[in-house]
Amino acid sequence: MGGLSGPQPESPIVAELEHIESTRFSCNSYRGLPDAPAFEIVAGDLPVVVSAPHAVTHEREGRVKPSDDYAGAMALVLALWTGCHAIVASRFDGCDPNWDPIEGSAYKQALVAHVLKAGVRFCLDLHGMVSASPSIVALGTADGTTVASRPEVGAIAERILRARLEPLVERHHKPIVVDGALAARNPNTVSSTIARECGIPCVQVEVATPLRVPGKAGSGIPAGERPFKPETLGEEQAARSHPDPEAVFLTMQALAEAIRACA
Ligand SMILES: [Zn+2]
Repeated sequence: MGGLSGPQPESPIVAELEHIESTRFSCNSYRGLPDAPAFEIVAGDLPVVVSAPHAVTHEREGRVKPSDDYAGAMALVLALWTGCHAIVASRFDGCDPNWDPIEGSAYKQALVAHVLKAGVRFCLDLHGMVSASPSIVALGTADGTTVASRPEVGAIAERILRARLEPLVERHHKPIVVDGALAARNPNTVSSTIARECGIPCVQVEVATPLRVPGKAGSGIPAGERPFKPETLGEEQAARSHPDPEAVFLTMQALAEAIRACA
């Protein structure tokens, strides 16, 4: 913590997110520290786990994909704030925990084991999406499948995020969507896998760049093999060169409230 001394309440959280992101996830061209484990689990005492499977660059069917930058830092800070559990990808290992079948995914095998052992009752799988996305936050439940064990939990999470992020919906003129294009429908997503294997509700939460990247340390765009389209790249660069730390702070508060309410 520390490093920023401005009057805004969000400053410490910005400094903390940037410190964690730069020292653990965005280093080494967004591949994480070379000697770090491929993923790390932080044990908590609130029966919720936040997962960030794309916190570093990953590989899906032979194609290198960019990290969801700051998702890992957000997961670790949410664990600190709420006392929940967290699992974060922390080094590129040629896998994609949100795509590979569980048989080939050490991340999901470890998450399943941890959920069952620790008695975790809710999983929030945290991702990042580009600024040009049609929504500011996209919730995915595979059309209700991943929250079928306790549908009220999905409804609580949605209600809290809609209420707390209403100012950002207005600021960005974009909605919060549920089960749109990013709905975790693939059976190998973290959400689908944990819901099926552990019998607990899971929600995939995709957060757009302006609500996730809090400062200019995030002005570099994580690299992957597929280049941005020019119109998408322009909006991404604009969001990153004019960060909105208050939006990130509100988003973190909203996620923390949802995590506590869904325990
Ligand atoms: Zn992702």
